[in-house]
Amino acid sequence: MPFELPPLPYDYAALEPHIDEQTLHVHHDKHHQTYVDKANAALAGSEWANATPDEILRNLGKLPDDRRTAARNHVGGHANHTFYWESMGPGKGGEPSGALASAIEEAFGDLAGFEQAFTDASVNHFGSGWSWLVHDGSTLKVISTHDQESPLSSGLTPLLTCDVWEHAYYLKYQNRRPDYVAAWRNVVNWDKVAERLS
Ligand code: MN
Repeated sequence: MPFELPPLPYDYAALEPHIDEQTLHVHHDKHHQTYVDKANAALAGSEWANATPDEILRNLGKLPDDRRTAARNHVGGHANHTFYWESMGPGKGGEPSGALASAIEEAFGDLAGFEQAFTDASVNHFGSGWSWLVHDGSTLKVISTHDQESPLSSGLTPLLTCDVWEHAYYLKYQNRRPDYVAAWRNVVNWDKVAERLS
């Protein structure tokens, strides 16, 4: 079954003023739709056409050579954006709690240690890509990936992501990626991150 663009899980204006309505329209309706369309084109007629995005990204090495790069870019782009929308929510932000808070303290010392590591990864990433909180099987880590590379392809479990492609922030923040990353923290859906961890 072909991939379909999932609806944005909240109203386009719901993340204002941190993530603006116009950016969400262009980012979701245009950029994400294009990844969906190209992912479908990349897999059409192959034995992978009915696989889920996660199955494909975990098994990129098994894809035929002539489809692997397109799958990494476009199935990755589709999955990463779905994951990003769900990493945010209206009225979110704040701090993690429970087992997630404990895991963050264990890995980063305290929440501030995590925030610093995640912000550094987001602000300092060169070019287009993503910053991630992942679980590597034993602990939490902050990593970044280039273009549309998914942590799933490295055997990691993603928990939280921030899109640092310019299209994610340029309309409102222009070249000020640090301002976007600081604002994005106000809409992080920690409930979703905790659900992914469990
Ligand atoms: Mn994007």
